[in-house]
Amino acid sequence: MTFKRTDYQPYDFANRRHIGPSPEEMAEMLKVVGAESLDALIDETVPKAIRQAEPLAWGAPMTEREALDRLRETANMNRNLVSLLGQGYHGTITPPVIQRNILENPAWYTAYTPYQPEISQGRLEALLNFQTMVCDLTGLDVANASLLDEATAAAEAMAMAERVSKSKRTTFFVDAECHPQTIAVVRTRAEPLGWDVVVGDPMSDLDPAQVFGAIFQYPGTNGQVRDFTDVIAKLHGENAIAIVAADPLALALLKTPGEMGADIAYGSTQRFGVPMGYGGPHAAYMAVKDQYKRSIPGRLVGVSVDARGNRAYRLALQTREQHIRREKATSNICTAQVLLAVMASMYGVFHGPLGIKAIAQRVHERTVMLAEGLEKIGYAIDQDVFFDTISVDVGRLQGAIIRSALEAGINLRPLGKNRIAITLDERTRPGVIETVWRAFGGEMKADGKAGWRIPDKHLRKSDYMTHPIFHMNRAESEMTRYIRRLSDRDLALDRSMIPLGSCTMKLNATAEMLPITWPEFSELHPFVPADQALGYRHLIDDLSQKLCQITGYDAISMQPNSGAQGEYAGLLTIRAYHLANGNAHRDVCLIPTSAHGTNPASAQMVGMKVIVVAAADNGDIDVEDFRAKAEQHSENLAACMITYPSTHGVFEETVRDICAITHEHGGQVYLDGANLNALVGLARPGDIGADVSHLNLHKTFCIPHGGGGPGMGPIGVKAHLIPYLPGHPQNGGDHGPVSAAPFGSPSILPISWSYCLMMGGEGLTQATKVAILSANYIAKRLEGAFDVLYKSKAGRVAHECIIDTRPLQQSAGVTVEDVAKRLIDSGFHAPTMSWPVSGTLMVEPTESETKAEIDRFCEAMLAIAREAKDIEEGGLDRDNNPLKNAPHTVEDLVGEWNRPYSREQACFPPGSFRVGKYWSPVNRVDNVYGDRNLMCSCPPVSEYLEVAE
Ligand SMILES: *Cc1c(COP(=O)(O)O)cnc(C)c1O
Repeated sequence: MTFKRTDYQPYDFANRRHIGPSPEEMAEMLKVVGAESLDALIDETVPKAIRQAEPLAWGAPMTEREALDRLRETANMNRNLVSLLGQGYHGTITPPVIQRNILENPAWYTAYTPYQPEISQGRLEALLNFQTMVCDLTGLDVANASLLDEATAAAEAMAMAERVSKSKRTTFFVDAECHPQTIAVVRTRAEPLGWDVVVGDPMSDLDPAQVFGAIFQYPGTNGQVRDFTDVIAKLHGENAIAIVAADPLALALLKTPGEMGADIAYGSTQRFGVPMGYGGPHAAYMAVKDQYKRSIPGRLVGVSVDARGNRAYRLALQTREQHIRREKATSNICTAQVLLAVMASMYGVFHGPLGIKAIAQRVHERTVMLAEGLEKIGYAIDQDVFFDTISVDVGRLQGAIIRSALEAGINLRPLGKNRIAITLDERTRPGVIETVWRAFGGEMKADGKAGWRIPDKHLRKSDYMTHPIFHMNRAESEMTRYIRRLSDRDLALDRSMIPLGSCTMKLNATAEMLPITWPEFSELHPFVPADQALGYRHLIDDLSQKLCQITGYDAISMQPNSGAQGEYAGLLTIRAYHLANGNAHRDVCLIPTSAHGTNPASAQMVGMKVIVVAAADNGDIDVEDFRAKAEQHSENLAACMITYPSTHGVFEETVRDICAITHEHGGQVYLDGANLNALVGLARPGDIGADVSHLNLHKTFCIPHGGGGPGMGPIGVKAHLIPYLPGHPQNGGDHGPVSAAPFGSPSILPISWSYCLMMGGEGLTQATKVAILSANYIAKRLEGAFDVLYKSKAGRVAHECIIDTRPLQQSAGVTVEDVAKRLIDSGFHAPTMSWPVSGTLMVEPTESETKAEIDRFCEAMLAIAREAKDIEEGGLDRDNNPLKNAPHTVEDLVGEWNRPYSREQACFPPGSFRVGKYWSPVNRVDNVYGDRNLMCSCPPVSEYLEVAE
């Protein structure tokens, strides 16, 4: 590698943060690609018919310091008071060792979903700890590795109950003591599927013979702790499924859902060290009885073995993944909340069961102290058994007390017209309790000792978190090293490019990440009065406006927490529009074969019938087939779902025709915006003819993938759809919410906003062009060794390209998986494997990668092609070769070596770093073994012997 001196230009430098190739490197790349200039390449690549008329213009890009100053001013517009508002959101203390070493550490936050288990062992172990902790706390058998939020977890639990219940009923019962947003999201999910939701008191209003399942909140949203054992038994007597929404901290003290007989438990792990962030992101959990483990939605980490028989983790039962099931999908969950689940699991590792119990006890004792004080003042507590939440009848004083508390810096929750509810948390200090008393008219000191208000029969007697992982030495050095040891096993963007097609693994710039942990952003409760969140308002409005300019839409809803949730929200919007126009019968959705699996899954979730449209030989949507199907279903056409540029990595010339045909037949166009990184500044979905799109802010707009979440999938819509966007119980709207919080996961929006500010319209456009250049450069460099499956007429690809590895299978028996695993030896994460075309790799370099890094990747790929050639020609054995045995580990450096190729060739293929090589911690993971011997919690400690003896 040679380093050239370049002239230092401050303006250029601002954009260079995100744009990998230097101007000189770009010139070299253009030469290889065979284009006169970057603009000439773009003109050849992006069809004229779709180019946007006006460039993106919103002034000069900001420098890093200017942007951070702007973020600081904006943060200061938020007022960070003490919120005792509860309803699933609680103050929490993020242990600094977790904040710095996980949340603020690119080794954790820039990783991808652990589909390639060999390079994901660290985060898989952390997620297994999460699953083990959840199982222990809930008293159930199998837990998944996170869901998007508590309310959507409730909706998933309901859908799962309907699937596994042996009854044929269509009514679902929801405890009136569920959080209001949970009830609302469950209603949203139930309505299109034709299920009735009955809300009431489980002890008096529930008829078990009428329902397929029921949810109970534990403790209730207003604080009461109830034992559901009897009502659960009655449900079971009628073949109905019992679901308990449980606060994991309360479960340190209370009898578990499992002990009550629940089939499913779910909840939020936010209060395990993940800041409220004005609504998110945080990880929801779900745990189920063993008999239902194959029906649990979301991802499941399991234990398997590698090629040497050593313990190795992997995602279990991957064929249940909703992508693969397409229109047979029962959920659309894809991106979840891995980073936040990792944080919560580390909170469990850090505190251990005794620490968690101590925190729970303190929260409860302070709540009892608060209650006793209020009783002394003369108020009666509504709850006879409670954990951290109480309510009192204050009659006409409601407004005055809340105002008085507010003036002293505390948010209290009004309940109905004459009650106030108060929820305490880990952060509540005695001074806060005294201030609350003062607001209620009492002057007392919070220094006594309080008793308990949990009678013995409600108390937990069982052990939990007994695994040694939760009993490490409590020294911070131990914790720091554990976190480091795990992250060292993983390959994230801080080590190498991750050329995952469709996933857009681009730079997550440090300056963009800084604001997310500022307390003014991270500590706001989602339901604070609007005037305490003016900074967020400003940020959300300005970012929405910019996204409208980028997409050509008229409004944005920030609610969806992932791309798939955006699809769901967008289709619900389309559905509501048809209903309002008297077109309830419109329920057919046309989806091309090349669509991402979440597309048909989302259509399924809103009750639409999926009709699959064929692809032409060149990979484009077959327009004639599309037209024929639109005509055939004209009467009932609701929508089509297309991806642009297509998942085949090409800008189709016919996209406008597809939109026009759909509209002609009365349908709406959903354009999956996951590939927006190929469009920003060049073309706008809203101009092309689409009506609604989701944008993956965790792809195009720099929110890191976090190892499989968080994400944000806001939707943009044209004006006619604005009235049908999701609403929220907190701030109105005629339609139901799709997420627990009104703006999804706002605390990660500063990342996308500062990206836009620092790039400016011109910089964003330049990023798009360079992303396209880099993809075309890779396609060109690999020419001769690998075919690019789909190209435009001009021979160009969009921002990604599909590399065909099937010929290697024919000539040398080398599978796409062998190629993917061999790339690990070179220190790379494989491109997207076997999607959208089986046996291929989809490569997306993004604009962030330097030419040197792209070249290193190309060298690795070319070397793999040479090895395959060598096999074909007999130079390497067909079954015992570096490709079949990849990845190689340090274990391959010691002991007997009887393979017909050298250790040198095994471990140091082209592209790998001689010094600081990435070593896969395990050899190839055995997928079949893992599914046959399903084990989804921490293995026995004897398997943790990691130190040589
Ligand atoms: C990533 C992706 C999705 C799903 O987004 P999630 O945030 O993972 O839910 C949908 N469609 C396409 C084309 C994608 O690449």
